[in-house]
Amino acid sequence: MIDMRSDTVTRPSQEMREAARDAPVGDDVYNEDPTVNKLESRVAELLGTDAALLVPSGTMGNQVAARTHTERGQEVLCERESHVYRWELGGLVQHAQLQPRTLDGGERGALAPEQVRQGYVEEDGHRPGTGLLALENTHNARGGRALSVETIAAAAETAHELDVPVHLDGARLFNAAAAHDGSAAAFVEHVDSVMCCLSKGLGAPVGSVLAGSDAFIERANRTRKLMGGGMRQAGIVAAPALAALGNRDRLAADHRRAERLAAGLDRIEGLTAHDPETNIVLVSTERPAETVLADCEQAGLLGVPFDDHLVRFCTHLDVTDDDIDAAITAAERAVGGA
Ligand SMILES: *Cc1c(COP(=O)(O)O)cnc(C)c1O
Repeated sequence: MIDMRSDTVTRPSQEMREAARDAPVGDDVYNEDPTVNKLESRVAELLGTDAALLVPSGTMGNQVAARTHTERGQEVLCERESHVYRWELGGLVQHAQLQPRTLDGGERGALAPEQVRQGYVEEDGHRPGTGLLALENTHNARGGRALSVETIAAAAETAHELDVPVHLDGARLFNAAAAHDGSAAAFVEHVDSVMCCLSKGLGAPVGSVLAGSDAFIERANRTRKLMGGGMRQAGIVAAPALAALGNRDRLAADHRRAERLAAGLDRIEGLTAHDPETNIVLVSTERPAETVLADCEQAGLLGVPFDDHLVRFCTHLDVTDDDIDAAITAAERAVGGA
């Protein structure tokens, strides 16, 4: 079975398993786990921030950030299809008591400075005020679109002019950096906090990081504790995550495979592949997405439905060149005859 439902399905390598076994550990709630501390400093260095904080999931990273940046009852500006708004169980409301105000970022999920300006609400006797702008890169639901540093910077600059802090959901920020042949730090420079998943394209079994200034991370640490995310001998998790950072250079290979997959699927009658920019391939289907996916599964290929006539396939660490050929053949068998 070729599993392209998500880039989260990768299994830890032998190196990661050994790293977990041998990791020096301590109690991270006392800040005494040397492996967690090493991971956090390494990520902060890579992202160009003062500090970073290990969190169990990307969702917790985003939610901790939203709660830390804001006050109860404020508004948060976010893209209509953003993960933090659509796929986190309404956490902005539940954890931080924020009122989301969504903006339409179009087919790339990019927010323009004038949209940020228009969406901004000034606090007064009737209105709660905007407390946060949340951006996403790469943009998952829009098909892994890799927004440029300039796009992120322009939206963030407008928010800052309005005294609104900016959080970047960079679950796949290293994919965005790879797509632009640049560094992740170039994006992070323009925002006040960023969350990166280590458990997606990089292949760690568990873990995401939240990064920002010393003052922000100190407060975020308290919020993480509040949400139950204070972990003890978490070096067991941090050690394979450190090893996963070494996989940054191979993300470009995932992107090339996604391109080849899209080209192959697009040639199949009844499927239209969107041009991928990173490791996510969205495919519009003539027949209902659920039916297409059921037939693909029969033929040995897994994806996920994204809409009634839209499916998503992700390339990742455990998908080889041969798997791409096999996936295209499977899709042909599943859909082509119809
Ligand atoms: C996966 C994802 C998250 C959440 O990460 P989890 O580790 O699954 O909680 C957040 N934002 C985006 C854009 C994602 O793709």
